[in-house]
Amino acid sequence: MKNKTVLITGSTSGIGLGIAESFAEKGYNIVFNGLEKDGIEISQNISNKYNIEHLFFPANMLYPEQLREMVKLSVEKFGVIDILINNAGIQHVSPIEEFPEDKWDNIIAINLTSAFHLIKAVWKEMKSQNFGRIINIASAHGLFASEYKSAYVSAKHGIIGLTKTVALEGSPFNITCNAICPGYVKTPLVDMQILDQAKHHNLSPEKVISEIILKKQSVKEFVPIKLIADMALLLVSENSTTLTGSVIPIDGGWSAQ
Ligand code: NAD
Repeated sequence: MKNKTVLITGSTSGIGLGIAESFAEKGYNIVFNGLEKDGIEISQNISNKYNIEHLFFPANMLYPEQLREMVKLSVEKFGVIDILINNAGIQHVSPIEEFPEDKWDNIIAINLTSAFHLIKAVWKEMKSQNFGRIINIASAHGLFASEYKSAYVSAKHGIIGLTKTVALEGSPFNITCNAICPGYVKTPLVDMQILDQAKHHNLSPEKVISEIILKKQSVKEFVPIKLIADMALLLVSENSTTLTGSVIPIDGGWSAQ
């Protein structure tokens, strides 16, 4: 049987990179994406390490044309994208009256609208082969709000709505769609918040982690990337057809409160 192909946005850093490595270990073909300057080397190294086929496209989530081109070239190489993981995301933290309008627009475009464009672009091929697996990396902030994260919380709540709608439309064609909602994961996205908060509150990074960042989680530990990757592998299996439309928190008990 031919290896399946997975396209993972934002897969040259953090959670996306960890998911890519776990899929590479299982022999999937991978379409890498991300804006890291060393994206070519990062993807080539994983490809060499696990002896898999891969492509790397630095398509910018802000531009739908680039997303469609990435899908077109991936389909030309691999025949079909069997699995789509919408993971790319950014954050900006600011009170609403100072929230920059361009940051709002970019967060909605990158964290939400890009997922719509990519789902639309892969849909026809998934439908015609009667198999597709779509995972949206949402967040605990898709279920709960925090102050000063208006755009991020809106985008993440939005992607949960998109996940459920796509699950309903996909079920006649064995296309599943699920959202994973991590709590805090130690990645560059969170490292930036730790540094900002440390400066703002005049606290050490360690104090920011224990007193601010992990405050809402019952388990006072960052969520391991491997746990998210393992969940993604479960969601894409051949026999997971009835596991669809689910919103799955992996959040150290945040949503249990
Ligand atoms: P990260 O900063 O390590 O990685 C983000 C990736 O997205 C990078 O590869 C980056 O290049 C890419 N990206 C950003 N803007 C892009 C654009 N315009 N076009 C193309 N790629 C772009 O962050 P992360 O923590 O790994 O975040 C991954 C996802 O997980 C995001 O959707 C984030 O909201 C979500 N998430 C993160 C946490 C956390 O605590 N880190 C928690 C819950 C959800």
